[in-house]
Amino acid sequence: MRRYLTIPALIILLALSDVRYASATDIPADVVAADHQIYSYGEMIEDISLLAAKYPGIITVSSMGTSSYGRNIPVVIIGNTNATKKVLVQSTIHAREYMCTLVVMEIIEYICDSYYSNEVNGIKYSDLLNNVCFHVIPMVNPDGVEIAQRGYDGAATEATRMWLQSQVASGAKMSRIKSNANGVDLNRNFSIGFGNGKKISAAPCFEFYPGGSSMDQAETHGLAQYSSKGFYAFVNYHSSGQIIYYGAGINTPENAERSKALANLLAGYNNYKTVSESQTAVYGSFGDYVQKTYDRPSATLEIGTVTPTPMSQFKKIFNANKDSWGGVAYAIFMGQF
Ligand SMILES: [Zn+2]
Repeated sequence: MRRYLTIPALIILLALSDVRYASATDIPADVVAADHQIYSYGEMIEDISLLAAKYPGIITVSSMGTSSYGRNIPVVIIGNTNATKKVLVQSTIHAREYMCTLVVMEIIEYICDSYYSNEVNGIKYSDLLNNVCFHVIPMVNPDGVEIAQRGYDGAATEATRMWLQSQVASGAKMSRIKSNANGVDLNRNFSIGFGNGKKISAAPCFEFYPGGSSMDQAETHGLAQYSSKGFYAFVNYHSSGQIIYYGAGINTPENAERSKALANLLAGYNNYKTVSESQTAVYGSFGDYVQKTYDRPSATLEIGTVTPTPMSQFKKIFNANKDSWGGVAYAIFMGQF
């Protein structure tokens, strides 16, 4: 049943929540403005506050912890926080892939708008997400994103500027950074296959430096901790190739099948090419880590054709992916994997 909040009730909720907007009329009809490429950490934080105020009872805001330089890393929970099954969506662990944050935020708003009115295969979003909720981390690597978007101005410390300078001196472009502010490629920093891979760097670098030891970064430590909450499936957003990677060399046969089913389900929406990683080496990625640690499926989407992904690709990417979370919720609800 669709429920409406009275204006006084909404104002009380806004007063109770930590939001600086005084009345419902201050919340834009369209919160996430998908009209510019540089979608910043600050904009994301503001939009999450607005969405939480606009959709109480649908959205709950939590935190994964803080980044290496102290930025809060929010988690947006959509649906029933006590749902028996949960999906973890994590995005933008690679700095330059921040288009993923905008896509994920827009999908969150799309589902909130659809919550009481739209259905997936005949089941209302509100019923599905009462049983299968989503924990969404739209920006795992905010320190790196600040550098990818603002260059040296986005570097928090002199130490960060020093290693950035050495990278730029050797020809790297600031906008191409994948790492966090310590120069660690966070998707090479997890414990399963740590230090493996052909293109490994030995020192802080724009990409492929796995760190001094596994999960020695605030972001990876926090994400590993958060991933232990009993998730049923994992979906990871990256931005180049229009590919869906699934599986890992360390998967059980059963989980290899589950990961394949998840990848095929997502590909049914966006038509990206699915690529099995089951025969390749593991190299410290989050996908490897969760599949080995929890024996649950994981799929990694590469949403654009180039990175940083231009705004001209946004609409097509969003339209190709907006219904896929509902599809995942439906498949889990129906026991399909
Ligand atoms: Zn990536």
